[in-house]
This record gives sequence, C-alpha cells and structure tokens, in this order.
Amino acid sequence: MNELQSYRNFWKEYTRLGDIISLLHWDSEVMMPDDGREERAEQISQLSSLSHKMFTGDEAKRHIENLHNLIAKNPPEAIPLRRELEILERDRNRAITLPVELVERFSKLTNLAHGIWADAKKNKDFKSFEPTLTEITELSIEMAECYGYTTERYDALLEGYETGAKSNDLENLFLHLKNSLIPIVNEGKSYSSPFKNPIPVEFQKAFNDRLPGILGLPASASRLDISVHPFSTSLGSKDKRITTRYHVTDPLSSIFGVLHETGHALYEYGLGQMKDYPSPLTAAVSLGIHESQSRLWENQVGRSRAFWEYFYPVLLKEFNIYHYDLPFNDLYNYINSVVKSKIRVEADQVTYNLHIILRFEIERDLISRRIKVSDLPEVWNSKMKEFFDLTINDDSEGVLQDVHWSGGAFGYFPTYTLGNIYSAQLFHHFLATHESFWDDVIKRGDMSSLNKWLTRKVYSHGRNLDPKDLIKEATGEAPKSDYLVRYLKTKVQEQE
Ligand code: MG
Repeated sequence: MNELQSYRNFWKEYTRLGDIISLLHWDSEVMMPDDGREERAEQISQLSSLSHKMFTGDEAKRHIENLHNLIAKNPPEAIPLRRELEILERDRNRAITLPVELVERFSKLTNLAHGIWADAKKNKDFKSFEPTLTEITELSIEMAECYGYTTERYDALLEGYETGAKSNDLENLFLHLKNSLIPIVNEGKSYSSPFKNPIPVEFQKAFNDRLPGILGLPASASRLDISVHPFSTSLGSKDKRITTRYHVTDPLSSIFGVLHETGHALYEYGLGQMKDYPSPLTAAVSLGIHESQSRLWENQVGRSRAFWEYFYPVLLKEFNIYHYDLPFNDLYNYINSVVKSKIRVEADQVTYNLHIILRFEIERDLISRRIKVSDLPEVWNSKMKEFFDLTINDDSEGVLQDVHWSGGAFGYFPTYTLGNIYSAQLFHHFLATHESFWDDVIKRGDMSSLNKWLTRKVYSHGRNLDPKDLIKEATGEAPKSDYLVRYLKTKVQEQE
C-alpha cells in the first residue's frame, strides 16, 4: 500500500470514530433512558480522548511528513493535496498548541460551571456565578495567548469557530447592521397566534414528515426524530439525523425546527458527496457557513409568501382546520411577527441579530480586559436599554440567560449573525439568476433549483475555500450586511 492510501485509510478510521461518537450523542438525546446518562458520559469521554490522541499522535505526524515529501516531488495529484495538507496542519497545530494541563483544567472547570450557572440562573443571582465565570474568562485569555493573534486577543478565540474571522471585520459588518436594525425593529408589528385550538402532535408530524424530502434531503439517507432541543447530526456520508420538538399550542415551533435542521443536514449531505470523502476537506468550513444553510431554508425560504402559498392547503389538511378558522394572512403575519423580547432564544428573525451583536460587543471587551466580569450585569442591562429600550428586572432574563459562557464558548455567538448575513447574501444572488424560483415553489413546491445551486456554490467546496472566500466566489462580493438589512426591511414594510 502506498503512503497516500495509508493516509486515506487513517483518515477513514479517524472519521468513523467521530461518527460513532456522534451516534452516542444522538442516542443520548433521542433514545437513551435517563439512568444511562452517567455511563454514556464516560463512553463519550473515552472515545473522544481516543479520537484526540489519534489526531495529535505520532501516526498523524508521520502522515503529514509523508504528504510534504509527496508534494515536494510535484506529481499531478499534488495540486489538490496542497490545500488538504494546509487544513490538516492548521487543525493539528491548533489542537496541539495548548498544554494538556490547561485543557484539563478548562474541561474540569466548565463541567462544574454548568451546574453553578444553572443554579445562579434559577436563583436570579449573578454574584454566585461571578467567581466561576471570572476563572473561565482567565483560562480563556490564557488559551488565546497560547493560540496567538496579530491584532486582537479575541481573534484567537473566534478562529476556533470561524476560520479567518477578525474582530475588526465583524465590527464593521455588525455596526452597519445594528444601526440599520434599531429603527427597523421599532417599526415592526407583532401578531398573536392564529391557532385557536391545540394541534395534536400526530397532525404536526404528518406535515413535518413531508418537509426534509421536499427540501432535497433523501429519505433513504435521513431520519426525523424528537428531542428536547432540536439538532442535526451526521453519522456517516449517507446517514443524516435531524430532530425537532413538539408543542401542541405552538405548532410552528416544530415546523421551523425541521426547516432549520434540514438546512444543516443538506449541507452535511452535500459534503458527504464530495470526491475523496472522507478527507480534511470534506467537512463544514465554519459554524457561520453551517448556520447560513439552516437560516436560508428556515427564514429566506420558510418565512416567504410563496412557500406558504404552496403549503397552506397542505397545513389545513394535515391539521384538520378549515380555512376560515385559519385565514392565510393571519398565518403569514404571525410567521413574520416582530416582538422585542428580552430572551435571545425567543427572538424573531428581525430582532435576533441585535441580541447577538450585544453579546459580541460584551465578550470582545471582556477578553480584551476592557471590562470585568463584575461589570457584566450593568453593561448587559444598559445595552438592552440602548438596543431595545427594554428594562431588565433580574439577571435570569439578562446576563444569565445563555449557557454559552459557562462552557467557555467565547467567540461562538457571532457565528449566528454571520450565518444570517451569509444566508441573505447567498439567497439574493441565487434569486438574481433564478427568476422562476418563486413560481416553481407556488405551483409545485419545487425547490430543487436552490438545492442544486447550493450544492454547486457551497456544499461541493467543503473546506477548499475559507468562509469569506467562499461567499466571495459564490456571490462575487465580500460578505456584507446590506442584503440582510434589505431583506428584513422588506419584511417589516410588507406587514399589514
Ligand atoms: Mg443551527
């Protein structure tokens, strides 16, 4: 067996191990009885450490050296291998940069922190979480220093979620978005639920089961199940799992959960169809791009008039409702309702990004030591006043609402809004070259041209292009927030 083949086999084994870990996670959220929790955590931790050792160990190092030698000889197959090697080394360097002792301290601390945060949130008591969050912040700063950066410390943490993202670029994207959104939010109208009666879960399921297939996810390569929090995971190139949750009084929650998670699964399915799968290049390029795929189907498509013109009669039939009990306009207005909420996870598509920008500004200042952990409640509350004109009464509806910081995930939040920015830009350029798309949706529920376009412009590139370059190549422009602003403005203007 030659060296290239041996490297490919190594990567296949490494990928399989990751898929098995994902299966254990999926099972623990969807199927596992409660008492299995403790041993399952040990199983996952044992396999995760095996996977980490495999990636950082001597065998991987030898494969990297072999790839360098192979490329130096410059055979025809060396050209695509260059990028693959670059990605492989970039990931491995990041994984081996941190001292083992620091990683262990961080993981122990964040495991403990979850419970302390949950109690503090329940008791509306930030003070009881403050010492732990201070320790997490200090360790995160230590890690950022190990990773290194050129201009700003926060960039080192961003890099873990969004390759190539820099604080300054985000500030420019987000500042324009923030200034544009505040007046749009003030104009937005809120509508009450048009559903007069609870909708049984079986009715909702009958509707939801149609969605993944019609978006382009093959039924033979996917499953839709139920979990507390909706998620999507990949268990192999032809095995994509999505979940949603059901509330009988809020049937739209399950539908938008399915649309969002199907968007993630379509991306993963596309990556699995790439040549040379599995390789370091056949994976998602960043969280922001991943989120753009879920938001595109959830919002740009799923909240459009055309989508509901096609699905409205289907919904009436599956939900057993007469049209006069659920007028089309009441449904459509409700789907595009704008409500100022104090809670991020309850926010609509118009207000959502302001919640994210608030978190970005705060965590960036925290990691740069411009503010202290003890300042957080005050800073949070004054920004909520500035952005939304809302008054926070206690920290459970303020700074304690999200789990992210208790897990030390500084740099994660911005990827949500990057996803929204990318999705609006991608979809704008898709529509510009596909004039019949909305007609095809209204007449036949046919969205295949979008799936094909995304396969060509996004999925098939894997990690060959960094996020910014991927957007530039797909749309002809660097990422900009103008398309998202325009889209949200139109949504608010068409409210009746
Ligand atoms: Mg998502």
